[in-house]
Amino acid sequence: MGTPLPQDRRGAPQRAVVTGADSGIGKAIAVALAGGGVDVGITYHEDFDGAQHTAEQVRGLGVGAAVRRLDLTDLPTAAAAVDELAGELGGVDVLVNCAGTGTATKAMDMDFDTWRGVLAVNLDGAFLCAQRAARHMIEAGKGGRIINITSVHEHAPRVGAAPYCASKAGLGALTKVLALELAEHDITVNSVAPGEISTPMTGQEDVDPRTQPRPGYPLGRPGHAKEVAAVVAFLATPAAGYVTGASFVVDGGMLLMGPQASGLLTDSTWREP
Ligand code: NAD
Repeated sequence: MGTPLPQDRRGAPQRAVVTGADSGIGKAIAVALAGGGVDVGITYHEDFDGAQHTAEQVRGLGVGAAVRRLDLTDLPTAAAAVDELAGELGGVDVLVNCAGTGTATKAMDMDFDTWRGVLAVNLDGAFLCAQRAARHMIEAGKGGRIINITSVHEHAPRVGAAPYCASKAGLGALTKVLALELAEHDITVNSVAPGEISTPMTGQEDVDPRTQPRPGYPLGRPGHAKEVAAVVAFLATPAAGYVTGASFVVDGGMLLMGPQASGLLTDSTWREP
């Protein structure tokens, strides 16, 4: 037997906070982490019933759940929800920044408040929640995981989504800086970058992605929220202890298609959101 690796000394995570866990990808992440024996702190913005439903599913898996409202347009105050959830759960070993919002307005038509609102939720809010969670992790001295849900638009642009793309690319860069700065505390920081996933955000709540043909995607369909959650759940395990500063694209191959697909477009409809 050799000397144990650092990640072996660190046990499996016990407590996670998942922002935006009242629906979609965040809900699937909360349930996937609960399935691994993790107590979960759930935040919601407007859908209290959705958050309660997630909590019921989490508790149904035999672990604890706590719920708080979080409005990331109300900063820096709102980030205190992370402290409250950590207090109720007895700490936080994993933070998943999943809350997010976007626009469908061209940059030239966008007012400053709309721009700032998206940046607040997707970037400022994620920064403040990461800062709060990391302070708890550092104090506890047992390492930790921060996982930021970005988007394929961390890596590639989209018409009508200037603040979304800027915030997700910024969150990808923040992920890398935090990975550098928090490594000495055995806290890893990674991003997960989904493509089109069947959730309320894409107008596909409760839709089976296998019934939605997408001939332009190499895998031919949107993704399921569970397919994003599975990657997040892996990153939360001790087995992922040497992975930090990375961006995991979960997009059915969409990002690979840029040059090939753009050459096949025959009109200019792509210029409009
Ligand atoms: P969703 O609409 O189900 O979830 C969005 C979540 O963000 C909700 O839980 C909501 O409570 C939270 N939220 C919205 N505004 C907020 C605010 N002001 N303060 C705090 N929380 C707020 O959509 P989803 O698809 O599950 O999105 C989850 C994350 O995944 C987002 O960050 C989104 O950008 C990202 N994403 C989604 C897709 C997709 O195709 N669905 C693709 C790439 C990235």
